[in-house]
Amino acid sequence: MRVLLVEDDEPIAESLTRGLSRYGFEVRWVLTGADALATAEDFALVLVDLGLPDMDGLDVCRELRARGDVPIIVISARSDEVDRVVGLEIGADDYVTKPFGVREVVARMRAVLRRVQPKTETEPAQEHGRLRIDRRGRRVHLDGAEVDLTPKEFDLLAFLAEEPGAVFTREQIMEAVWDENWFGPTKTLDVHVGVLRRKLGDAAALETVRGVGFRLVLT
Ligand code: CA
Repeated sequence: MRVLLVEDDEPIAESLTRGLSRYGFEVRWVLTGADALATAEDFALVLVDLGLPDMDGLDVCRELRARGDVPIIVISARSDEVDRVVGLEIGADDYVTKPFGVREVVARMRAVLRRVQPKTETEPAQEHGRLRIDRRGRRVHLDGAEVDLTPKEFDLLAFLAEEPGAVFTREQIMEAVWDENWFGPTKTLDVHVGVLRRKLGDAAALETVRGVGFRLVLT
């Protein structure tokens, strides 16, 4: 899913681009309002910083809204209510206030995308080899039988299954599944991986990539 990010703060933009790519979003990043408006490509969603060097982010929102109905999420360093209300009145679908974590942004993006694309409401659960993962219903079936998972076990499996075969570092997994501000030991991850291995049997291998992290290999 392609997303346009309009943000002049490079560290924020880089970490957001990296973070969103882990959740399967392909990010096109521009630093100015002019570049954003000059982009002729189609995006599933646009993230717009309000404080841009060349123009007010609200004007970018207005112009984007005048052109079409692409979902817009405002990124603001100004947390006062006026900006929030104005941001939404000009047609933005939601806002996040700096500082924010990637998970918060992804949660808001998904909520906005669900609202504007009602067809995803009825999107069926996805098949991952012998596994069937229903992310909305938070249920997993293995060969047709429901697997009893705790919320964290489900989150861990759903995260790794978003890109089977890809290696995720311990840090990426901890940040995505446990807490974006996570810091510390990762023993809890090993415990959860062990339990998932037992519950999934030979339907999926949670492979340890030594010195790096884990990957899910479907069988
Ligand atoms: Ca800015």
